[in-house]
Amino acid sequence: MTSTRNSRASSRRAPSGLSTRTVRQPRKPEASPAPGVVAEPPPREDKAPFDIDEVLGRIREEVRRYADAAMFALAANGHDSLFEQLIACILSIRTRDEVSLPVSLALLGCASTPDAMARLTPDEIDEVISPVTFHEPKARQIHAIAVRTRDEFNGTLPCDAEVLQSFKGVGPKCAHLALGIACGHEAISVDIHVHRVTNRWGYVHARSPEATLKALEAQLPRAYWVEINRLLVPFGKHVCTGTRPKCSTCPVLKYCRQVGVTDHR
Ligand code: SF4
Repeated sequence: MTSTRNSRASSRRAPSGLSTRTVRQPRKPEASPAPGVVAEPPPREDKAPFDIDEVLGRIREEVRRYADAAMFALAANGHDSLFEQLIACILSIRTRDEVSLPVSLALLGCASTPDAMARLTPDEIDEVISPVTFHEPKARQIHAIAVRTRDEFNGTLPCDAEVLQSFKGVGPKCAHLALGIACGHEAISVDIHVHRVTNRWGYVHARSPEATLKALEAQLPRAYWVEINRLLVPFGKHVCTGTRPKCSTCPVLKYCRQVGVTDHR
């Protein structure tokens, strides 16, 4: 009887003089993923060890045949200032590149500097950008960015993520991409393609683009921080598509764990 009582692992006697009550051992907390992180799926024996250099090298070759993502295409066409890149990214939010790219070219053709943009009215901006999603609030945001840049920053946007994200409508995705392209900053921009593809690989395990950004910042070699968006946007649009990705012809099939893929071509 005594030995049975003593062998109870979940309780012990308090030190004498402190209390005569039985003190419960605190239950060991179960390991749970950090907020936004999902549990890592089991390894797949049919897959090669994941090699980020090899995977991105293969994707670099694959996307040569596709058009550049809108902001990289704009930069290649000379619209590579921080202001132009930020405006183009705002226009691209929830809008396909096929729509946002010509609209960006049209707007920047009218006004490519904060001074020139501030001289337009929000209604005039709205008229030019009407094909993009949420064009009315975007027109007001773009005008406000131009006016504040003219008045507060002497007409030149500083290469500063905090300043960019202080503008209404600008989050980490746009701030990081604009800073990466226009200022040469090492910054990862996670859009829906980067989020989906890197999670399907099994390279990160995150519920949201924000959690994917944190996970990539912790493990992606810095040399790829800007390039990963340039590669995975066209790759996600044409190969690792939202529904029925083209796994059977995918150049990285042997490395990809295909997490969450239930149907593919
Ligand atoms: S194998 Fe399939 S899921 Fe994996 S990257 Fe290629 S297309 Fe996407």
